[in-house]
Amino acid sequence: MKKLKVLIVDDSAVMRKIVERALRQAGLEIGEVLEASNGAEALVEVEKGSLDIILSDINMPVMDGLEFLKNLSKVEAGKGVPVVMITTEGSEARVVEALSVGAKGYIRKPFTPEQVKERVAPLIGVLK
Ligand SMILES: [Mg+2]
Repeated sequence: MKKLKVLIVDDSAVMRKIVERALRQAGLEIGEVLEASNGAEALVEVEKGSLDIILSDINMPVMDGLEFLKNLSKVEAGKGVPVVMITTEGSEARVVEALSVGAKGYIRKPFTPEQVKERVAPLIGVLK
C-alpha cells in the first residue's frame, strides 16, 4: 500500500509533533509528513501537490484554519484533499463554520491515537 503524504498545520511546533506521533501510533501507513505553521504556509505546501490528507489547527496567526479552508478550494492541487480540523474546547462555533466550508471532520485536543485513526482512516480509504 502506498504510504500517505500528510500535511500538519499548527502554529505550535510541539502540537505538530504530537499530531505526527499520534498518526504513527495509530498504525496508519504514514510516509512523508510536511509541516506548516499557518494557513499561508500550508497553501504553499499544498501547491507542491500529491497530499493525501491535511490536519489543521483553527486558531493560528497570519492565516487561520478557516481562511485556509476557504483558500484551499481555489488551489488546483488542493481540490479533493480531505482536511480534518484540530480543535480546542470552546471553539464549537468555529468548528461548525469549518465544516460548512469543507472540513471533513474534527479532532478535539487532547486526543488519543485511536481517536485520530477513527477520524482519518475513513477519509483515506482505510478500513478500521
Ligand atoms: Mg493554534
